[in-house]
Amino acid sequence: MRKTFENLLSSSSFRDASVISIAALLIWLTAVESDLYERFHQYIIAHEDKELDEVLIAFLIVGLAGYVFAIRRLLDLKKEAKARSQAEIKARWIAYHDFLTGLPNRRFFEESSEEHILDNLKSDAYSVIAIDLDGFKQVNDLVGHEGGDYLLKTVSERLVAAFPGEVVVRLGGDEFVVVASGNGRERIREKCSETIHTLTQPMTISGVHVEIGACTGYACYPQDGDSLKSLSLCADIALYAAKREGRNTVKAYQPGMSEQLKRRAELEGSLRVAVRRGEIIPHYQPMVDLQTGEIRGFEALSRWQRNGNGAANVSPATFFPLAEEVGLIVELSEQVLRKACLDAARWHGDVKLSFNLSAALLCDRLIASRILMILSETGLDPARLELEVTENALVRDVDLASEIFAALQAEGITIALDDFGTGYSSLSQLSKISFDKIKIDRSFINSFEQDETKYGIVKTMISLAHGLGIDTVAEGLETEGQLLKLKELGCKYAQGFLYSEAVPASQVETLLEEFALSDIKSCG
Ligand code: C2E
Ligand code: CA
Ligand code: CA
Repeated sequence: MRKTFENLLSSSSFRDASVISIAALLIWLTAVESDLYERFHQYIIAHEDKELDEVLIAFLIVGLAGYVFAIRRLLDLKKEAKARSQAEIKARWIAYHDFLTGLPNRRFFEESSEEHILDNLKSDAYSVIAIDLDGFKQVNDLVGHEGGDYLLKTVSERLVAAFPGEVVVRLGGDEFVVVASGNGRERIREKCSETIHTLTQPMTISGVHVEIGACTGYACYPQDGDSLKSLSLCADIALYAAKREGRNTVKAYQPGMSEQLKRRAELEGSLRVAVRRGEIIPHYQPMVDLQTGEIRGFEALSRWQRNGNGAANVSPATFFPLAEEVGLIVELSEQVLRKACLDAARWHGDVKLSFNLSAALLCDRLIASRILMILSETGLDPARLELEVTENALVRDVDLASEIFAALQAEGITIALDDFGTGYSSLSQLSKISFDKIKIDRSFINSFEQDETKYGIVKTMISLAHGLGIDTVAEGLETEGQLLKLKELGCKYAQGFLYSEAVPASQVETLLEEFALSDIKSCG
């Protein structure tokens, strides 16, 4: 397809040279045949007065000079053609490669023919592996753009070393794709795991110790698709599923994934509409003081009746993580918190409001001032607000979280550690935050009566809290037997279906009145 200027030049020169040579040969033959030179010589001698010999020499010199000029011009043209072709190659390289890492880019991957991309692979069977880094943005924020560039270059080098002789493409940002030889699922999975292991090796950037995660999704030819294009779509879908599962996950494409993705896209669309219309509202589950039997506070639990239809309820455990993924979390959380504060401001006395704080909000330094702003707008006393946070939310950046909590606690807001016992945090991380309360996860409460080990854990949690001088709340209290045991162990508060599910705001007053009467107080 590519016909360079140089090629053109040489083919037309060749034609010219052939025509001129044939013409010259014919003229020479005719001249030899007709003794042209002897005749001309005799003519010059016979007409010495016309100085034809001088004219002839002048012609010869001009001819020679013309010849030298033509050669020089030809060489110049050749040089120019070469420079032009090199510039063309360079421009083409720039268009199809990523400047930072030197890898082929998205344009190369999307515009090159399938044969061209697969050309260098060692076998006809191949797989497409989509790779996306986890936490790149955070590292970029930490080490700056130059540091981020260094990280991307290092990742690219590691990828090229992991897939020698195969096609490694940087699609943009922290997304890469590899077209690798072979289509054995097990082998490709192993290769993906090894790659993640390699990519996640720590590196030091400007003196900062940095660790990055990576997820991969892969699809194999011909099992998952009949073209490179369809395979890369499948690998992308698998990558998406891997990312949802968490850091450093490998996923193979499975046909059901497209359907899941479609459903999720629909859910995302409805969630956007629901947030825009303010359709997600808090319900309230009472938290009861085990000594007095009175309601100490309510935990706000968000409810979304999709399409206004009870049967289409979506659990907050599903839509909060989704809101986090699609960037709706701040808007949604602030919306629900504002509504909950407005409701709580109407409750009598010192009944508290507990609100679940998503992990994503703890990455934002300004969250404390935004919460305080909502409190002042809605008129709720900060001392009546408790924020619940899970251990896993702290793992991301415990120092920042402790700063945020210190600012909130200084205003009178209390902080509870939610789902205690189920997370990955270490005691040293937890010691950085002075919690006001610990909520024992319901997975311990639901079987601690029969399960000796769980009983031991619950007992230890309660005495740990006593030792630290903080209160405990047992979650998921469902039976009177559990209630008795919790009282024996000195647990301060409990929450669960034994008392009530989460109820709409309109039923809170009724619940408070019911609990104020002694019959429910006598539970247990
Ligand atoms: P969580 O904070 O651990 O909330 C307690 C969950 O346990 C609630 O589920 C509640 O309905 C359920 N539960 C309460 N008592 C019992 C019981 O006796 N037995 C059993 N089996 N379950 C009980 P829900 O409302 O589905 O919420 C699930 C999770 O969603 C919550 O777990 C919380 O992490 C999250 N969530 C709910 N609302 C919000 C919110 O407004 N913001 C944020 N960030 N997360 C929320
Ligand atoms: Ca909670
Ligand atoms: Ca909980």
